Order: sequence, then C-alpha cells, then structure tokens
Amino acid sequence: MGIDLHAHTTASDGSLTPTELVQLAKNEGLSAVGITDHDTLGGHAEALAAGEEFGVEIVPGIELSVQNGSGEKFHLLGYYVAPDSDLARELETLQRERSARNAVISEKLRALGAPISMERVREIARGGVIGRPHLALALVEAGHAADVQDAFNRFLADGAGANAPKQVLTPERAVELIHAAGGVAIWAHPTRPPSKRAGDANFVELERQLQGWIEIGLDGLEIYYSQYTENEANWTAQMARKYALLGTGGSDFHGASKPDIQLGKTHTGNAVSNEILDALKVRRRV
Ligand code: AMP
Ligand code: MN
Ligand code: MN
Ligand code: MN
Repeated sequence: MGIDLHAHTTASDGSLTPTELVQLAKNEGLSAVGITDHDTLGGHAEALAAGEEFGVEIVPGIELSVQNGSGEKFHLLGYYVAPDSDLARELETLQRERSARNAVISEKLRALGAPISMERVREIARGGVIGRPHLALALVEAGHAADVQDAFNRFLADGAGANAPKQVLTPERAVELIHAAGGVAIWAHPTRPPSKRAGDANFVELERQLQGWIEIGLDGLEIYYSQYTENEANWTAQMARKYALLGTGGSDFHGASKPDIQLGKTHTGNAVSNEILDALKVRRRV
C-alpha cells in the first residue's frame, strides 16, 4: 500500500469528482490520497465523505498559485488546512476576482473572433473553479483551436492576446495563511515553475529561491513527482536532506486532462510510502 499526496478533482481542473478520485485511489490500492485542488478547498467535504465510505484516508490540501515581487510564479501545497480559516476566506475573495477575470478573457476572445459560450465552460468545469484550462477546452470544442496547447499558444498563455491578469498571493502571505489554518507548507515541484517550460532547471538559482522560502517558514518540498527526471529527483531529495526539510510527493493526477499521469505513480514508478504521511502529520500546527 502507498499514498499519493498530489491530486486534482473537478473542484479545480481535474476530470474526476472527489468521490470518483477516492474510488480510484481505493481501486489502485492506495491507503491515503491528498486532495490538492488549485486555489480551492471545495473538494474536501465530498472527498472526506467518500474516504469514510471507501476506507481511504483523505489529506485535505490545496495547491496555491503565488507570485513574488519579481513576477516569478510558484505553486505551494498546503496540507491539513482548516475549512474555517482566513485562508478559506481569502480564497473566496480570489474566486470572485477569478469570475471577473473570466468575463474579461471571454470578451477578449469574442473581439479576437473566437467566441465561446460561458455556459458551456461552466459545464466543462463540472461545478469547479473555472480557469484557463476549461476555457481552452471550450476553444477546442468550438473549433477555434486544434488542441488545448494550441488554445494556450494562440489565445490564453501569459502574454497571449486573450489572457488577463490573475490576482495571486505572495509567497509570504500564502505560507502565513497555510500556517494560520493549521497546515503544512510544501513547495510543489520546485524544478517545474508554472510559468516555465520543463527541462531548464537552474539548480543554483533554485537553491537561492529555496533559501528564501525557508526564511519565510517553508516546511518542505516535493521530492517525488510523476514528471521528475532523475536530475530533478536527485536535486530535490538532496535539498530536503541539506536543509532538513520534509520531503513529500505525489503524481499531480488530473484525470483525462493529463492522461499520461496515473494516480499513485511518481517518477519512481511507485506510490509514495506511508512513512511520508506520518512525517507530514507531525508537522501539523493544530
Ligand atoms: P489559471 O489559473 O486560470 O491562470 O490557469 C492556470 C493553468 O493553466 C495552469 O495550471 C496550467 O495547467 C495551464 N497553463 C498556463 N499556461 C499554460 C501554457 N502556456 N500552456 C499550457 N497550459 C498552460
Ligand atoms: Mn492543474
Ligand atoms: Mn502545480
Ligand atoms: Mn497540481
């Protein structure tokens, strides 16, 4: 038995509902699964109920998008974050801002001759927080792009014609909110910043960034990840040892939208071990 501490549901950009995800975890023989939807705690209640039903331990988590003063973007995981918290309230504000942003993007798409139906986008998102991946799917469906990547390249990528800025938290604020919610703050896939292409990791620069994260209270980093190369896996594991950080991991499962990623599989080909979860629990703040 193993675990997977990084998975998405329909609460953000995953294709399985929380119940379907927990059921899959059970079928895959996992004893625990972390629900780490982007910028929302919306999948927790359903996942916890399904976890009871199927006998799978649920780690209520989140994957926050953050941006520092230099415009660098990062993903930060928070584990065991409480639903009644300043974090939850801040997320509600961010989601209202997201709705306004989606309306701006939709208007820009219309002006560029690539209109999409926001009603259809809501269907695609299956009740989850709507983001650019859902808009990309709608663009493909409407025949304005060949596939999701094409939709990003032509319309939605940072700097492309229909994108609009998104309100995001700073790293400092995000760590503070996770801690105040009783949670543990983990730097997600440090070698794969959300705004950069894979494969160009600069380990010297990354270590400098890691030291900055440690100064603001980071608890750990992902040392197991489905997409890591051997170099990335070695570097992240080495950093965890060097700075006595917690090393966590998971697949970053999204279901149909990232079909090459399987639940419970990291770069090792196996699931993460249960001892990692034990170590994570020790760092909880409540
Ligand atoms: P949003 O939170 O709405 O800004 O959407 C962010 C998500 O869009 C990321 O997590 C990626 O899955 C996806 N994304 C962002 N930029 C690109 C890109 N250039 N190519 C493909 N996917 C992207
Ligand atoms: Mn995603
Ligand atoms: Mn991520
Ligand atoms: Mn993720």
